[in-house]
Amino acid sequence: MKDIIEQYIRDVMDFPKPGVVFKDITPLLLEPKIMKLTTAELLALVDKEIDKVVGIEARGFFFGTLLADRLDAGFVPVRKPGKLPYKTYEETYELEYGTDALAMHVDAIQEGDRVLIHDDVLATGGTALAAAKLVERAGGKVVMFNFLIELTYLKGREKLKGYDVRSLLKY
Ligand code: AMP
Repeated sequence: MKDIIEQYIRDVMDFPKPGVVFKDITPLLLEPKIMKLTTAELLALVDKEIDKVVGIEARGFFFGTLLADRLDAGFVPVRKPGKLPYKTYEETYELEYGTDALAMHVDAIQEGDRVLIHDDVLATGGTALAAAKLVERAGGKVVMFNFLIELTYLKGREKLKGYDVRSLLKY
C-alpha cells in the first residue's frame, strides 16, 4: 500500500530554496482513491483514544480534518501568528537562520485533552515541537505525533524524544 501512495508524492528540487527536495503531496490530493487509502493507513497508526487532532498550517489541515472526523475528535488548526482571529497562545522556535512562530486559540484545547498532532512532513522537528508546546501550555497531553512523511536524515525524531512519533512513509 505504501508503495502505491509513494507514487503520488512528487519530489520538487530546489523548492523553496536551493538544496531542498520538496515533498509535494498535491498529486495525491487529486486522487480520491489514494486519499482514502492514505487516510486509512494514517488511521491504522493510531491506537489510542484521541480527543483533539491538531493540524499544522497549512498542509497538516488536509489529513488532519479527515483524521479528526474518523477518530470522532475535534480539529484544532495551529497557524502562523496573525491568522487566527481570537485570543492565542504563541510559541517561537529556531530555524536554520532566524526564528518562526506558531499560534493556537486559547480555548481550543481543554485541560487533560488527549491530543494527536498531525503534519504532512516531519523534517527537523522544530515546527512539530512548537505545536506540542502550544498544546501543553493549554493543558493538553500530546499522546502521538502522526506524519505522512518522515525525512529521517533530518533527525526530527530526536527533537521529539519522549513522544510517540509515527510516520507512514520514511525517506
Ligand atoms: P521542520 O523542519 O520539521 O520544522 O519542518 C518545517 C515545516 O516545513 C513542516 O510543516 C514541514 O511539513 C515542512 N517541510 C519541511 N521540509 C519539507 C520538505 N522537504 N518537503 C515538504 N515539506 C517540508
